[in-house]
Amino acid sequence: MDIAKNILEINNNIPKSVKLVAVSKTKPNEAILEAYDVGQRIFGENKVQDLVQKQAGLPKDIEWHFIGHPQSNKVKFIAPFVALIHGIDSLKLLKIIDKEGRKNKRIISCLLQFHIAEESTKFGLSADEAKEILVSEEFKSLQNISIAGVMGMATYTDDKNQIRNEFRVLNNIFKMLKNEYFSDSKKFREISMGMSDDYLIAIEEGSTLIRVGSKIFGARNY
Ligand SMILES: *Cc1c(COP(=O)(O)O)cnc(C)c1O
Repeated sequence: MDIAKNILEINNNIPKSVKLVAVSKTKPNEAILEAYDVGQRIFGENKVQDLVQKQAGLPKDIEWHFIGHPQSNKVKFIAPFVALIHGIDSLKLLKIIDKEGRKNKRIISCLLQFHIAEESTKFGLSADEAKEILVSEEFKSLQNISIAGVMGMATYTDDKNQIRNEFRVLNNIFKMLKNEYFSDSKKFREISMGMSDDYLIAIEEGSTLIRVGSKIFGARNY
């Protein structure tokens, strides 16, 4: 895998307005540094322990994103430095992140994850569940989190139309939430969608953050 070449190639093929999250899960620090050396600064991990270890051992100007659902009891380990948490699917989790943000005197940016895929195994809120969170007094009282937008994963399928339609659903949810709850917020602006196999479709459908792993670092062996 020529990691440097892959990073440059992806960046050359996406609009400047779209940010690349290089998903480095399961990959060693050396691989991350190869990407770093050609200018990549945003990396994504989905395990708290790995994220904490990598952050400690790598340059401090890396922006670390958590791209899954942190377990409640582990949020405290990433709260001091995490730049964005992509996988929020409950008020309970937001309350924990808020508490840890307060301890660290930080406002932690979060994305609400929506269930847009056909597979029931994938996580995420429905639009109604999100609304219920956003109108609640408990949510409104949280001072140390900031909702920066939405995130979703399309169905794992070769059917490009289906993938496109699912991304479109997420974009519509984003617009609806923006209108109803975040019209005054400059921070609510991200649509995190698109992975190695579908990021070009995602960008056509309005993605602002693509999360690409295997296309940069090669296949993962777990
Ligand atoms: C692993 C992962 C990715 C990257 O997947 P690739 O297909 O390797 O690009 C993106 N988003 C999430 C949430 C992931 O867990």
